[in-house]
Amino acid sequence: MKVLVPVKRVLDFNVKVRVKPDESGVDLANVKMSMNPFDEISVEQAVRMQEAGTATETIAVSIGPDKAAETIRTSLAMGIDRGIHVKTDAEVEPLAVAKILKAIVEEEKPDLVVLGKQAIDDDSNQTGQMLAALMGWPQATFANSIEKDGDSLTVGREVDGGIQTIKVTLPAVITTDLRLNEPRYASLPNIMKAKRKPIDAKTSDDYGVDLTPRLTTVKVAEPAGRTAGVKVADAAELVAKLKEEGVI
Ligand code: AMP
Repeated sequence: MKVLVPVKRVLDFNVKVRVKPDESGVDLANVKMSMNPFDEISVEQAVRMQEAGTATETIAVSIGPDKAAETIRTSLAMGIDRGIHVKTDAEVEPLAVAKILKAIVEEEKPDLVVLGKQAIDDDSNQTGQMLAALMGWPQATFANSIEKDGDSLTVGREVDGGIQTIKVTLPAVITTDLRLNEPRYASLPNIMKAKRKPIDAKTSDDYGVDLTPRLTTVKVAEPAGRTAGVKVADAAELVAKLKEEGVI
């Protein structure tokens, strides 16, 4: 089974997000960037499938600026076989990402595409679903467990109040949720080995995809600041205050 893993370079999850003074977006100047955390989970899943003999080849794809190659390199150090870097400095919306991925899927013919459930920068939660629709493939989103079962996969999905188990036939699209696995750290020898693994450099023109945005960002604003709290003497005063504020 050939597995394709799209990985996005995003603002590191530990970084405090700063909104630009003109509210046009988030300030990305001189901030730490890393692989989208859900994509690390997808990479771990693909590598484990290869270690178990279920996957025969694993490929990472990233669409983004020059530095997105570093994100691919991280996935190679975790165990992915090779990479495809679609270079662009434009902000690429989920639909355009899905169209590029579709073109790559048609070229590479993987049996499975494993994406993160969402990118933590745009929080779109759209790309996997759009890719499945464009390909006409079944999809299992928010995966909590994945088992190969002949020509199908049995996937446990995180839903409100529990786990839903579904079966999808291959080829299929999966999006990963937080509790699927714990991604490994790349060891130094594997980081060195990853330097020799190939990354194909491409552009969106190679796939004939128009990256023109379909959405306009009206504004990005900081969340409202919290107001200072007050101390109460006892539970009775607390209840009285909550009633006064209309909370209870
Ligand atoms: P989103 O729909 O933007 O929340 O992203 C969901 C998933 O799609 C991510 O976790 C990635 O697996 C994939 N993805 C989104 N944008 C990109 C990108 N520029 N390059 C590679 N993969 C991406």
